[in-house]
Amino acid sequence: MKDPNQAAERLFGEALDEPPEQRSAFLDRMCRGQPSLRKMVEELLKENDRLQGFLSQPPFAPDGSSADGVASQGLPKGTRLGRYSVVEPLGSGGMGEVLLAIDTDLHREVALKVLRPELAGDAERVARFRREARALAVLNHPNICTIYEIGEQDGRLFIAMEFMQGMTLRQRMTHTPLEMEAALTLAIEIADALDAAHTAGIVHRDIKPANIFVTARGHAKILDFGLAKAV
Ligand code: ATP
Ligand code: MG
Repeated sequence: MKDPNQAAERLFGEALDEPPEQRSAFLDRMCRGQPSLRKMVEELLKENDRLQGFLSQPPFAPDGSSADGVASQGLPKGTRLGRYSVVEPLGSGGMGEVLLAIDTDLHREVALKVLRPELAGDAERVARFRREARALAVLNHPNICTIYEIGEQDGRLFIAMEFMQGMTLRQRMTHTPLEMEAALTLAIEIADALDAAHTAGIVHRDIKPANIFVTARGHAKILDFGLAKAV
């Protein structure tokens, strides 16, 4: 019998191509007599929805107020940072929080990495944050997250960058083992991105599954140049 993980993953990919309202019928058809397979695919879909559920929400309350609570510590939904309006948190790390926001001029989603306010007085952290932005700005590669700008609002320093849909490689690997072909594709893309960075004189210094994003289309994007160094 085929590897159930592989079968679930393939079906998950196929289910994503179905309109959401037809996914249940699709799974009825494809998983007939295989309840455990169906459960695995449903779990993958649920996790995917959890990560992408914001798409079904209105981008921000029209009056700029918080429609359903607070997007993050101190940054309610609708908060303006430059021309971006905060929608909800995407993740967080040592430097600060990453938020989904809407560019109110270009009407597109962006990811905002906001330096923790308590670090704003820490010259070394601020320098590191700016270094991250500059490293990203130098790099123009399909497998490296694209930066749009660095900005500041009311003393809050933020980086606006390409919003990516998907999950980190770390999250991706906790679902099911990567198939050989997917792993090789990702490895080649990551190697090419690092080669481009090294050619530009930038060493990432923090490559790990949590800092590699796997997009919904299965491509790798390197994230988090917070420790990058010019050589
Ligand atoms: P640390 O240095 O502790 O690893 P960090 O503060 O530098 O964390 P990142 O690793 O850059 O933050 O991002 C934290 C999380 O936010 C990521 O793991 C990812 O889930 C999410 N994230 C970051 N950038 C984006 C993006 N451009 N689009 C979508 N999600 C993102
Ligand atoms: Mg990180």
